[in-house]
Amino acid sequence: MKWIKKWKVQSSSGNGEYTVAIDVNGNYGCSCPVWKFRRQECHHIVKVKQSRAEEIKIMGRPEAIPANVKKPIFKDGKILYPLVPLYPSDTHMEATIVAFMLRHGWSMSEIKERRHLPNSWTKKAVLDYFDKYGMKEYKRV
Ligand SMILES: [Zn+2]
Repeated sequence: MKWIKKWKVQSSSGNGEYTVAIDVNGNYGCSCPVWKFRRQECHHIVKVKQSRAEEIKIMGRPEAIPANVKKPIFKDGKILYPLVPLYPSDTHMEATIVAFMLRHGWSMSEIKERRHLPNSWTKKAVLDYFDKYGMKEYKRV
């Protein structure tokens, strides 16, 4: 996995620290045993997620820019999404882009306006879609 950003988080014992990282898909990993051996979300990841949520609240959500990419990625603090035709287009790709933007702090109403989506595209519908088709990286967080 390719990590694009890393954070140091104090271990709860206070002896040393762990590294939490995020990949281009917005998935988190940690250097602690809970994540390394069980692939479970540890409290270090929770801590980083919380501080990122705070950051988004203060700084606003990241800008999203169409780019020559095959799937949405997070790079240099910005969302880059594939240049695909606006709705109606490939439903799976559209849902992928929407789920990615939701993950990075965009609201559904902002996304709908940007992507010109019909009202049937709700946050629930998109998340249900990924639950059903099981793309691990876009499951509910
Ligand atoms: Zn951890």
